[in-house]
Amino acid sequence: MNPENLQKLIGRLIAEIGEDPKREGLLNTPERVVRSFAKLYGGYGQDPKKLIKVFTNEGCDEMIIAKDIDFFSTCEHHILPFFGRAYIGYLPNDKIIGLSKLPRMVEIFARRLQNQERLTKQIADTLNELLQPKGVGVVLRAQHLCMKARGVEKQNSEIITSAFTGLFKSNLNTRSEFLNLIR
Ligand code: ZN
Repeated sequence: MNPENLQKLIGRLIAEIGEDPKREGLLNTPERVVRSFAKLYGGYGQDPKKLIKVFTNEGCDEMIIAKDIDFFSTCEHHILPFFGRAYIGYLPNDKIIGLSKLPRMVEIFARRLQNQERLTKQIADTLNELLQPKGVGVVLRAQHLCMKARGVEKQNSEIITSAFTGLFKSNLNTRSEFLNLIR
């Protein structure tokens, strides 16, 4: 990101939507927007597979679940926020991951232009590659401002996406245990 170029672009955008970029309240808006982009799009150039440390599993053979992981992302079709909660579970083999690293992984993938389906799958696939577990389950529940703010019908509906690998995909008991535990 080149902050100067970006600030100019935001200034032009403000003018093009019919505003006066010189108006007091808007004077520092380009600068503020660019600063917020550093957070909103901070996931680019970060590879969770390199950042996340994996540990040896010392005998846990039951499902490990992280619930209610808040995330904020940006819809790639409308450049408007979508946000909600992620639920991640896996059945370990030889490797486990530090639990605080699951929100970290969600954060890296969410802070990009995204669609909810891809975000869900990227989390599941990355965990699967990192840990080679018996299976992974990921569920994302989110609200999309591109539906709400634009007045698309069903403004209050929540979008739920899921991705399953291994036993979470093939074994109905594993999948329902996960879905029950995150309810
Ligand atoms: Zn959208």
